[in-house]
Amino acid sequence: MRIILMGPPGAGKGTQAEQLAARYGIPHISTGDMLRQAVKDATPMGRQAKTYMDSGALVPDDVTIGAVAERLARADCGKGFLLDGFPRTIAQAEALAGILRDLGVALNGVVDIELGSEALIERLTGRRVCRRCAATYHIANRPPVRAGLCDKCGGELYQRGDDSIATARNRLDVYQKQTQPLIAYYSQAGLLRQIPGAADPESVFQAICAVFE
Ligand SMILES: [Zn+2]
Repeated sequence: MRIILMGPPGAGKGTQAEQLAARYGIPHISTGDMLRQAVKDATPMGRQAKTYMDSGALVPDDVTIGAVAERLARADCGKGFLLDGFPRTIAQAEALAGILRDLGVALNGVVDIELGSEALIERLTGRRVCRRCAATYHIANRPPVRAGLCDKCGGELYQRGDDSIATARNRLDVYQKQTQPLIAYYSQAGLLRQIPGAADPESVFQAICAVFE
């Protein structure tokens, strides 16, 4: 099973990625983790990536693409893979198509978890943190017993600055601008599978599996 998993921040992509990888016995390959692993293993691409990461610079496309090519050629991808965070651009998508051609395999589908921006903002801004012990809650998904107070220590709960509505809107805008062309690209290729993400995680998971089974 060869899957690309896409979805905006707050859509629950991480949970779905873990479950899909377990269900199909395939590695969950997230670009960030993959680059860190390539650096650790000191592969040719990992050594290149390290020079950029050490200087705090963005890793250029050709290095990321090279690392993906190395990763997908590994034995544990024999049954397939789940790509998360790659491709991010049309150029990367075209490079991926070339990598898969060289490997003699094809994608089964590109899953896009969809959720309206209001629901995403509610999820992204619902986190509350205890001032005293740093325990985290979510006003919708994991509310404290007493509103505004920590269950563990009774401390005051507050909203961190990077969980604000403005930050959430900005993250969603960036995501949308970046992925719109990819959605169109994979839709044209007949590979796009859009899955509504509003339901509970288990129902979303079943809906994704139903696409492939
Ligand atoms: Zn606390």
